[in-house]
Amino acid sequence: MSDLLVANSVSKNFGNFKALNDVSIAVPEGSIFGLLGPNGAGKTTLIRIINQITMPDSGTVFLDNEPLKAHHIQDIGYLPEERGLYKSMKVGEQALYLAQLKGLSKSEAKKRLKYWFDKLDIGDWWHKKIQELSKGMAQKIQFVVTVLHKPKLLIFDEPFSGFDPINANIIKDEILQLRDEGATVIFSTHRMESVEELCDHIALLHEANKILDGKLIDIKHQFKTNTFEVGLVTNNEAKLTQILKEKFEISQADFRSLNNDLKLNIKLKSQESSNDLLRFLTSHAEVNHFNELVPSANDIFIQTVRNN
Ligand code: ADP
Ligand code: MG
Repeated sequence: MSDLLVANSVSKNFGNFKALNDVSIAVPEGSIFGLLGPNGAGKTTLIRIINQITMPDSGTVFLDNEPLKAHHIQDIGYLPEERGLYKSMKVGEQALYLAQLKGLSKSEAKKRLKYWFDKLDIGDWWHKKIQELSKGMAQKIQFVVTVLHKPKLLIFDEPFSGFDPINANIIKDEILQLRDEGATVIFSTHRMESVEELCDHIALLHEANKILDGKLIDIKHQFKTNTFEVGLVTNNEAKLTQILKEKFEISQADFRSLNNDLKLNIKLKSQESSNDLLRFLTSHAEVNHFNELVPSANDIFIQTVRNN
């Protein structure tokens, strides 16, 4: 699959401060690309460069294999981190105004807004003033306005930050659906909960540098340690522990189980398979829990940032 957006060796300084140092990313068409990193890593700076709000000091960004030009703005829907709506304007009025700025006719904008307001169950907000809305409610309106003109690239900067878990989930599902309908999505976050369900690709920024990137599934393979979490029932825990210790690297595991069993993390050597382990275990005990420990995006994030 081809890349819709490519950033090549992008650097940006603010005075003496380096906000981006030679950062490159490639966002495949039709993917959900997570731009991850702690506060201050440079995520918003890169996003602002992609949106031509900030100019890079060096490096080039390509959309559809073409260096960014003014007309590309129409191809991008951008939800900024700092979200501003005109407080005294009414919701419907403002949504219609913003939609027309994106090039939609008034009647088309009305039609699409009605669709989205019904979909998100916010139809009765139409005549409210923005200042009457909570932060999360205003954010929903901005989300709608961002996606309304069906741009091929959607960029959400910290899209979940103002939402409660229920509304964050609704937005998450909408993002997945937009992707399924053909949009390419870049979103930034410093919190990892949303990453597992959403991202197929990630790039991790830390102090202006990209320190990790790739397909999330490949990165997980790279970080996995061949460790299995097992629950064992035996009438001689001490003896079984001793036997296992001689053959594997083991440590105490921590998971919930209905049984009062021996809970261990068992790390395999590279030549051993999960079936080898399972066969060994079943010959010595009853196995009632067997689960490969796959590192979460959060584990990977913390480990990689620490090592840098
Ligand atoms: P992130 O979005 O990953 O939290 P940002 O890209 O917003 O990080 O910021 C990266 C760094 O660049 C921060 O230390 C921030 O203070 C700095 N920075 C961002 N924009 C400006 C600016 N316009 N002037 C000076 N410093 C800036
Ligand atoms: Mg930011």
